[in-house]
Amino acid sequence: MVKILAVTNQKGGVGKTTTSVNLAASLAATGRKVLLVDMDPQGNATMGCGIDKRELQHTIYQVLLGSAAIGEVRRISESGGFDLIPANRELAGAEVELVDLPNRETRLKQALRAIQDNYDFILIDCPPALNLLTLNGLCAAHAVMIPMQCEYYALEGLSDLVSTIKKVRANLNPALQIEGLLRTMFDARNLLAQQVSDQLKQHFGDKVYDTIIPRNIRLAEAPSHGVPAIKYDRNSKGAQAYLALAGEILNRSAVQTAAA
Ligand code: ATP
Ligand code: MG
Repeated sequence: MVKILAVTNQKGGVGKTTTSVNLAASLAATGRKVLLVDMDPQGNATMGCGIDKRELQHTIYQVLLGSAAIGEVRRISESGGFDLIPANRELAGAEVELVDLPNRETRLKQALRAIQDNYDFILIDCPPALNLLTLNGLCAAHAVMIPMQCEYYALEGLSDLVSTIKKVRANLNPALQIEGLLRTMFDARNLLAQQVSDQLKQHFGDKVYDTIIPRNIRLAEAPSHGVPAIKYDRNSKGAQAYLALAGEILNRSAVQTAAA
């Protein structure tokens, strides 16, 4: 059965897109069928997959507004080995235009139904806001993956996100789980990062992934070549960390399936 994960954190620049693209490529490298949905008007995930956001006729925007079918919009990321529903700046308009439409929070969920059975994993790259686009991601998902930097204000931002997840659970998507918290851009020599990491484990226990994504220049360079890091420099510490994360996620879901 497909697992749909929303990669979300309302804080900007914490590694959501880097995680979405590299985890999608790493899961695909294990032979899983993967779809990545770009829900951010910045279109960074689209560009990072090697697809030029400026040349797209149709994107997730038309799907959300009901003027294109999701299958028509879908592209193949040759460099990533997975499928992509792209986005570009047009999507910024959807925020306003969706407000008056029926089922405005569940439009992505409805759209995915047509294609979701073709995949093992669907990853949704959310924008840095708790807005209607993110809500669509949270309503469509089975679980949330939260990338975060271990900084002083990180825990504070996390409590806003957790309360949003609780509200979504109460009103729109009762089955929504927190899949895991991912420590990104981690610098083990930084004492504060170690302290925040320890606090995170105290609060969230085994919801914190064992895999830590280090700060690694290859992860920052790869998007400018339109490829995931495992294609750009497979042996880099960053690429290896995302491959390890894919392994950890697959192990966790195997354990959950066995326990069910
Ligand atoms: P936004 O909130 O704007 O969507 P984001 O949460 O998606 O941002 P990214 O775009 O993935 O964050 O990362 C922000 C910046 O940090 C990018 O320039 C990216 O290349 C870089 N970056 C992400 N992860 C790492 C890492 N582990 N090591 C080094 N650089 C990284
Ligand atoms: Mg992003």
